[in-house]
Amino acid sequence: MKEHEIRQNKATREWVIYAPTRGRRPSDFRQTDKGREERPERDEHCPFCPGNKNMLPGIIMAMPSTGEEAWQTRVVPNKFPALATDGDTERVERGIYLTMPGYGRHEVIVESKWHNRGIAQMSNAEVEIIIETYHKRYVDLMKEHENMLTLLFRNHGVRAGTSLVHPHSQLIVTGFVPNHVRWREEQAQRYYDEWGRCVFCEILQFEQREQRRVVFENPSFLAFVPFAAEVPFEIWMMPKEHDADFGDINDVEKRDLAQAFSNVLTKLFEKLNDPDYNYIINTAARYKADEPQLHWYVQIRPRLTTRAGFEIGSGISINPSIPEHDAEFLTEDS
Ligand SMILES: [Zn+2]
Ligand SMILES: [Zn+2]
Repeated sequence: MKEHEIRQNKATREWVIYAPTRGRRPSDFRQTDKGREERPERDEHCPFCPGNKNMLPGIIMAMPSTGEEAWQTRVVPNKFPALATDGDTERVERGIYLTMPGYGRHEVIVESKWHNRGIAQMSNAEVEIIIETYHKRYVDLMKEHENMLTLLFRNHGVRAGTSLVHPHSQLIVTGFVPNHVRWREEQAQRYYDEWGRCVFCEILQFEQREQRRVVFENPSFLAFVPFAAEVPFEIWMMPKEHDADFGDINDVEKRDLAQAFSNVLTKLFEKLNDPDYNYIINTAARYKADEPQLHWYVQIRPRLTTRAGFEIGSGISINPSIPEHDAEFLTEDS
């Protein structure tokens, strides 16, 4: 491609500006400022470590078993929740404005007993238990009709918004559908109405055929750097079987998703020296779970750049790295 190019994200129709800095290669994104200090297996002050149950506000569930020492994962209420469970979604007018009580859920998924072992260091079987935990909690929460969206996500590292080092992810349930999610749904709907096909299936099949941005593949999932990645090393992990709802994931897909997570996060860890990142499971909001135009997927966004004025003002991203180069760098033998 030319030095400067603007690409369109087919799913949202948003543009992304590519402005590779002259001479900068993917390897230059490797983190050097991270003193990878040795962390202990246990930390007596860490609420997520075994033996510190009294520091937790409660335990919602555990897997594979709730026995005192038999757990690998625990779901616990967030100690400082963004939303409160004791409210409703009744809209209230205040002058020309609208408000509603802060109803929702905010929970933490403790992923391991080990204070110092993240997904990149776990076995596939351990990662599978994390996926099982996500799924079980997701299905339970979506049984409650006031819950409009359950967003599972992981913040890894200070730049991704967490200071707690013990491996964990989170979920937030909202009692309304965020505009950002609606926007994505509406774009997919428009595409479907026009072409009669799911835009995500189209993307998946093209990426599978072209192989230029693929990072990992197994029978159920394709992991690739999207054609219009907004940030360096953004990765989407998409189920090959069309489905709008993460809640529909089956046992084979859980195993394959665990393998994909392991593989992709290990690649990021090794090639970029444990970069900070967020990942999000993008899934359909309530009442949209059976729609033919939506397709759930995991979005991984490393935090290697900072959004600046133009990006805030325009809503579009300037990505200094080329998706094909990112994929090549992640998959080449080192
Ligand atoms: Zn800990
Ligand atoms: Zn699809």
